[in-house]
Amino acid sequence: MHRTYLLCACAACSCTRPQRKSFCMSRIASVLLPMPLPEAFDYAEPEGMGLELGDQVAAPLGPRLLRGVVVGLREAAGGNRPLKPVESRLEEPRLPPGTVEFVQWAARYSVDWPGQPLAIALRGARAPKPRPVRLVEITGARPARPTPARAKVLDAAGAQHRSPADLARAAGVSSGVVKALINEGVLAVRLVDEEAMFDAPDPSRPGATLNASQAAAAADLRTMVTQGGFNVALLDGVTGSGKTEVYLEVAAAALAADPTAQVLIMLPEIALTQAVIGRVTARFGAEPGEWHSDVAPPVRRRVWEAVATGRCRIVVGARSALFLPFQNLKLIVVDEEHDASFKQEEGFIYHARDLAVARGKIETAAVVLASATPSLESLRNAEQGRYRWLRLSTRHGGARLPDIELIDLRESPPDHGRWISPTLVRAMGETFARGEQTLLFLNRRGYAPLVLCKACGERMTAPDTDSWLVEHRYSGRLVCHLTGFSMPKPKACPHCGAHDSLVSIGPGVERVEEEAKSLFPQARVAVFSSDTVFDAREAKRLIEAMADGQIDILVATQAAAKGHNFPNLTLVGVVDADLGLRGGDLRAAERTYQLLAQATGRAGRKDRPGRALLQTWAPEHAVMQALRAQDRDAFVAAEMSERELAGLPPFGRLAAVIVSGVDHVQLEAFVLAMGQAAPNAAGVEVYGPADAPLGLIRGRRRKRFLVRADRAVDLSAFMATWRARVKPPASVRVAIDIDPYSFL
Ligand code: ADP
Repeated sequence: MHRTYLLCACAACSCTRPQRKSFCMSRIASVLLPMPLPEAFDYAEPEGMGLELGDQVAAPLGPRLLRGVVVGLREAAGGNRPLKPVESRLEEPRLPPGTVEFVQWAARYSVDWPGQPLAIALRGARAPKPRPVRLVEITGARPARPTPARAKVLDAAGAQHRSPADLARAAGVSSGVVKALINEGVLAVRLVDEEAMFDAPDPSRPGATLNASQAAAAADLRTMVTQGGFNVALLDGVTGSGKTEVYLEVAAAALAADPTAQVLIMLPEIALTQAVIGRVTARFGAEPGEWHSDVAPPVRRRVWEAVATGRCRIVVGARSALFLPFQNLKLIVVDEEHDASFKQEEGFIYHARDLAVARGKIETAAVVLASATPSLESLRNAEQGRYRWLRLSTRHGGARLPDIELIDLRESPPDHGRWISPTLVRAMGETFARGEQTLLFLNRRGYAPLVLCKACGERMTAPDTDSWLVEHRYSGRLVCHLTGFSMPKPKACPHCGAHDSLVSIGPGVERVEEEAKSLFPQARVAVFSSDTVFDAREAKRLIEAMADGQIDILVATQAAAKGHNFPNLTLVGVVDADLGLRGGDLRAAERTYQLLAQATGRAGRKDRPGRALLQTWAPEHAVMQALRAQDRDAFVAAEMSERELAGLPPFGRLAAVIVSGVDHVQLEAFVLAMGQAAPNAAGVEVYGPADAPLGLIRGRRRKRFLVRADRAVDLSAFMATWRARVKPPASVRVAIDIDPYSFL
């Protein structure tokens, strides 16, 4: 049945028009729905609903009722434009004004529909509620048959409300005793919605005694935070200099200055969130809210609601924590701010570091970006005085930075079929003999990145994607890391049918683990990558085992090579230091420098000097030389001047357009038309369309444009104008990536 609703313009409710539902409204509510729609939709506000900005509502869209958020309210100007009414206001926390503004700002900046970031902001609100807990209470009825066991239960039940099982445990009786008392009506069970209890953090608890340079940085940042207002600082300190201790002091100052202040600490890896949650809990005597993809949906819902109502004052999380509905956000810390994991590449495309600064501005909060190897973007802002720049140039407690040596693989190659050179093997042997630990770093998951038929030369690729299948020995499968496609490793070559002809080419962490085990059979060897460590708990377990000295050799991808403190780790071996340079994109050198400086920075703490050995085929490369000399400033200066010459970030702006479609002819026609529709603007150059290096993913062909613009250009506005000029056919998708990190 078709339902129509007419907007009633009368001041009082004297409507006589036929309507299915009796209502009368004087206001129009703009409701943003968490879907890829171009704008918020107008609905009529039924009389008496008393909507406010940020309210969560149920609103009809076609035949469905959807959750949405009120982002605008205005008086109805009269006329009779038919509008559907808001169905109901949800009895759930309202999105604070700062969150609503941030969502809309993020969409404009990223040139995407506002419903996309709203979907992220509502992820916690839409998660299922935690199940109500069953609590037992005394009814006052007397037990028909008093026994000592029953008396114990009644004693325990009087003290505190507990679940039936907990009560039986507390009374030291079997669960049958409790059950019998419930059946008799002496005890009753009540279902209770458990409120998220977040103990208030206590900022007055003593923290670490800061050394002189930490104290100076903390004092500066404390002033920044307690004075209030929007400010950004770059906390630039070598690995182990105690940046975490410093920003925890700043968090303490923010929490102490305002009893409702909230603090967000963002980290790039789930494994790192686990370590920082432990430190926050120890510092403030209360657990923070935890927010990342591995948090179970009901817990997510609790954290979301507790943040929205101000009960949760500290959140430690991954990039999407930035979209939580903070009531009174006073400090955002982006730890390891240079890390590319802060860039979300799929769905709503954004860089959490950049958006953190924007959110800080909207909330008039302080933002602290922390890193041992800051991004060139942040360094440039610091150099220009837009950010305060606080440097910690030594490790805490007199610990030395590791000595870094290059192993020239042309002179000291590994044996055939091996990946660890004799020089590195020797160093590992000495380390093991001293009872110390080694980290072997290789940023490649699985066993071998390529499987090839030695009979016909066929490379195993994913069926509808331009990517090699990676062999995983633990699971016995060949896996496409782009799409997740996987298949068992075949016995015969699918191309020529030859048996036992498929060979594994190159190493991944699983293969290096195999080699380390064969070299040091007595050593305890473990591997840490996203395939072998499935969740936050397992990551925590492995990190703790390493910190406790239960592992002698840890073979790890970047998932474990950042930010952790392993007191007994004295040797870092980088298996393939050139790996990150091979892609050759704009940030290849910067990223390789950052990653290897982080990985080598794990070696050596306090009383044990560390050593890092980098296996490379190109020891003369500027990145390797800078790492060996530990001369970050010279590397940054050289890289900055190259970028400046080319007008690339941070001196210019970039955006990418990725156009994909299943129909090749339609796609070609569309990208040509799109190229012609590009607006002319001073200071903007459009390159393309060109075939994307990854030309086919999940059966969709891909084309790319790259746009370079001068810094002064509003690139988001340019891209929005361009996008508005073209209408892709239904089968073609256009994704805009402002400040791309991937060029594939
Ligand atoms: P970063 O984040 O700069 O790598 P951390 O804050 O993790 O450094 O500090 C490295 C190690 O030194 C940690 O084990 C930390 O507890 C310790 N540390 C740093 N500063 C202090 C301090 N002032 N007092 C005691 N221990 C400290």
